[in-house]
Amino acid sequence: MPFIDIGANLCNESFNKDIEAVINRSKKNDVTHIVVTGTSEASSEDALKLTDLYPEYLSTTAGIHPHDASSYQAFSYHNLLALLSNEKVKAVGETGLDFNRDFSPRQKQIEAFEKHIELANETNKPLFIHERDAHRKLTEIITHHRDQFSDGVVHCFTGEKEALFKYLDLDLYIGITGWICDERRGKSLAAIVKNIPLNRLMIETDAPYLLPRDLDPSQRIKPKSRRNEPSYLPHIAASIANCYGLDVTEIAEHTTATAKRFFGLN
Ligand SMILES: [Zn+2]
Repeated sequence: MPFIDIGANLCNESFNKDIEAVINRSKKNDVTHIVVTGTSEASSEDALKLTDLYPEYLSTTAGIHPHDASSYQAFSYHNLLALLSNEKVKAVGETGLDFNRDFSPRQKQIEAFEKHIELANETNKPLFIHERDAHRKLTEIITHHRDQFSDGVVHCFTGEKEALFKYLDLDLYIGITGWICDERRGKSLAAIVKNIPLNRLMIETDAPYLLPRDLDPSQRIKPKSRRNEPSYLPHIAASIANCYGLDVTEIAEHTTATAKRFFGLN
C-alpha cells in the first residue's frame, strides 16, 4: 500500500551523509513519493537540486518559514517566483505564522505570509502553511484572502478543535505528523483527528523533527538516534488509522489520492 510524505526536511544537515540510504529505506517501506519542504530561499534551492537526483521520487515546495520571515526582502518574491516556475516545485511554502517561538517579529511574519499568498495567486500553486499558537491571526488573514488561492494545507496540525473546524470551514487540507503518536502531548489531537474528512487529510513525517514517540527502539535505524525519517510514515499512518477506527490501508489509499490531487503529482 502506498504512502506519500507531504513534508520532509531532507535538506536538513542531519541527512547530508546518508540521504541515499534514507531514500532507499523509505522506498522499501512503501513511501512512494516525498514532498521536500523548502524553508528559506537557500533551502528551497537545495531542495530543488535534490530532486535532480531522484526526479520521479521527490517534489518540493518553495518558501520562507515564519521563523525566517525576517530574511524576507523585496527581491525574495522574484527569487521564489523563479523557483516556483519549475514544475518540480509543487507548492508555495513553508509559510505562515509561529507565535510560539517568535523567532521573527510577528509583523514580519504577517507581511511575508501575505506575500506568499500573492505568490500562490500568481503561480496557481497551493499553499503549504505552518501555524503554531497563531490560529486566530492566521484565520483572519486567510479569510481576507481566501479568494486569491485555490488550495492550502495546514501542515503538522497540532491545535485544538476550534482551530481545526475553522480550517475545515475555510476549505483547507490538514497535514498530520507523528505528533499524534505522543501519548502525552498528542492526546488531544488523537481525540479530534477523526473529524477531518478523509478527502481533507494528508500525512507527513516533518523529518528530521518529531520522531514518533511510541516507535519501538528496535524499529529505529540507530537505536539512539532521535532523527525522524520518511520510512517511519507507515507507523504514523497506523496511529491515525487507529484514531479513525479504520484499517491503515484505507488511510493509505485516501491520503495518497488526496496528496496526488493537491500537489498535482503523476
Ligand atoms: Zn512547519
